[in-house]
Amino acid sequence: MPQVKSLPTITSLRSEVSELRRTGARIGFVPTMGYLHEGHLSLVELSRQHSDKTIVSIFVNPTQFNNPSDLEKYPRDLPRDCAMLEKAGAFAVFLPDASKMYSKNHETWVDLAKLPQGYEGADRPGHFRGVSTVVSMLFNLVQPDIAVFGEKDFQQLRIIERMVDDLKFPLKIIRGPLVREPDGLAMSSRNVRLDRTSRMKALHLSKGLFAAQAAYRAGESDPSQLRSVAMKFLSGIEALEVNYLEVIDEEHLMPAHTATNGSRMLATVTVGGVRLLDNIPLRR
Ligand code: AMP
Repeated sequence: MPQVKSLPTITSLRSEVSELRRTGARIGFVPTMGYLHEGHLSLVELSRQHSDKTIVSIFVNPTQFNNPSDLEKYPRDLPRDCAMLEKAGAFAVFLPDASKMYSKNHETWVDLAKLPQGYEGADRPGHFRGVSTVVSMLFNLVQPDIAVFGEKDFQQLRIIERMVDDLKFPLKIIRGPLVREPDGLAMSSRNVRLDRTSRMKALHLSKGLFAAQAAYRAGESDPSQLRSVAMKFLSGIEALEVNYLEVIDEEHLMPAHTATNGSRMLATVTVGGVRLLDNIPLRR
């Protein structure tokens, strides 16, 4: 098995990228914050299908954390991540240093006007400004032909798609479907922070979304009815807070007046102090 190349500096990444460009290889890119799971690996697989060489970045981007303790508690395990990437057939892993990505004079930000409003953006001020800025920097460094983002973070995915369109980044975004644990919980690096009780409670989130999807399939199109179907699974559970639960249109992320095949139910709960995101497409 070829070893995944470790690129610990911007200089080492740049020289690898120019070499790849020189040989005419199509570069695929999967940005992550590490502590990888099957969801991330499914994106690597998709990238491999659409490119010749896949570069994965692992960077816990400080500017997208509005809560310092969340940043500090973010799980990390680099040796394990590298072993997983090697098995998954990634070509290289870029591991930049926060101090090199953001100089002390940094003052340029990428900020979208509308898509970051609401949902994650409303609950985490500045979060998406950090995301769109770091993703722009990574695109400029890696110069990928395609980049893969997960539908797990649907608002983020739409923001990146909009940004690529608006700023004319010469690359194509590929969507990776949300990957779940066998019991339905959406895979997330943050799931390790759930204790046994919170892990059980967290299952109500996907159960609620599945029930709403079933109700939509059975003919229910009223967003408030679909919300109540999901809420039945989520209300009255101790130490579980629903941050938001909304039926939205997938294009503009606005609340839907009527659920259609272009709608998605988006939800975030906090359980045992851990913020968990999930969403489900409504399709008949
Ligand atoms: P993160 O490391 O959480 O920043 O995520 C890196 C990428 O993996 C993002 O594009 C996420 O949307 C994607 N991702 C995270 N969890 C999942 C999942 N369960 N299924 C599919 N993609 C995921």
